[in-house]
Amino acid sequence: MKDETRLVVAGRSPETNFGIVNVPVYHASTILYSSLAELEQRHKERADGKQVVSYGRIGTPTTWSLENAVAELEGGYRCQVFPSGLAACAGALQAFLKTGDHLLVTDSVYGPTRAFCDNVLKRFGVETTYYDPTIGAGISELIRPNTAVVLTESPGSQTFEVQDIPAIAEVAHKGGVIVMMDNTWASPLFYKPFTHGVDVSIQAGTKYIVGHSDVMMGTVTTTEEHWQTLQSGANMTGQTAGPDDVYLAQRGLRTLSVRLKQHMENGLLVADWLKSRPEVHSVLHPALPDHPGHDLWKRDFLGASGLFSFRLNAVSKAAVAEFMDHLELFGMGYSWGGYESLVIYADPSSYRTATKWDNTNPLIRLHIGLESTDDLIEDLSAGFNRLNLAK
Ligand SMILES: *Cc1c(COP(=O)(O)O)cnc(C)c1O
Repeated sequence: MKDETRLVVAGRSPETNFGIVNVPVYHASTILYSSLAELEQRHKERADGKQVVSYGRIGTPTTWSLENAVAELEGGYRCQVFPSGLAACAGALQAFLKTGDHLLVTDSVYGPTRAFCDNVLKRFGVETTYYDPTIGAGISELIRPNTAVVLTESPGSQTFEVQDIPAIAEVAHKGGVIVMMDNTWASPLFYKPFTHGVDVSIQAGTKYIVGHSDVMMGTVTTTEEHWQTLQSGANMTGQTAGPDDVYLAQRGLRTLSVRLKQHMENGLLVADWLKSRPEVHSVLHPALPDHPGHDLWKRDFLGASGLFSFRLNAVSKAAVAEFMDHLELFGMGYSWGGYESLVIYADPSSYRTATKWDNTNPLIRLHIGLESTDDLIEDLSAGFNRLNLAK
């Protein structure tokens, strides 16, 4: 079955829901049992790994609809929902780490994940080492006897380095190290983590799965080998997501293929246009042939999303503000993946520790939405005119 079809059918079961196309929203906290025997039976089935209704927090058919669809799309064994993408990152790390462990994290990691490692994990006695995102098999030199997890994120969501995940996974697995990936940029559609050696795949479902800028959602999918650890870790810390949000996420998922293909097409068009602008120093988009990670992207990814950055030729902060402040179609905001275009300024030199980032050429990140690229380019064009006047 092709992914476009899978997106339509995965996790749905109209035959057991009166023919209703979408799985209904089950609101549940208390679950009633008809007898002690039934109570014990259901808890036994749950302990055996079956999806049975036993307690609101543990899940309902609404939850499993989304979880099963995401697991199937990513090519993993099973999936667990979390209340946000960050909760999914934190929950995955927490489930697999203990005091005294060593953790390897890409220097291009999502900022709040870095804060979780540097504060919460540190307090619990887990040591984090950041590594160059382009390290590949060189990660072997950083693996210690107590290294338990290597966290990857490809491409980085501000700086867009593409990681050689298969090379990292091969080395990590030799040392018994678990490979995690934040797979939010490509979504389950454009990167298949489990065919590249990933053990635990994280999605900020808030972005492309939900796709409409209104719901927070996280998912973690694992291989069969690592499922018990992830699921019990999530259950013991009370992780779940609300049924209305889960419903909206599974609804968003159904149209992921049409949306993402359009984000890719629009994004590439704008990226190409930016390359022709005299104000632009470089465009950081993995699908452009001159991007340093292009060959890896071409080898491992099935497409590109609508998120990329570009760097301006050296210019004052005031001129950058003139460009950004008066854009009409690009909202100034962080949480991308919805249908609309966004712009944000970032200074990676302020947080990098394993690698140096020179911020002489200011970095602007764009999310290209589903608007007409003619209109988007006109908006950016007017922005460059303002920038040139302010210089
Ligand atoms: C947005 C994002 C997250 C966090 O997701 P939230 O749902 O906003 O908590 C994690 N990783 C990446 C790469 C993201 O872009």
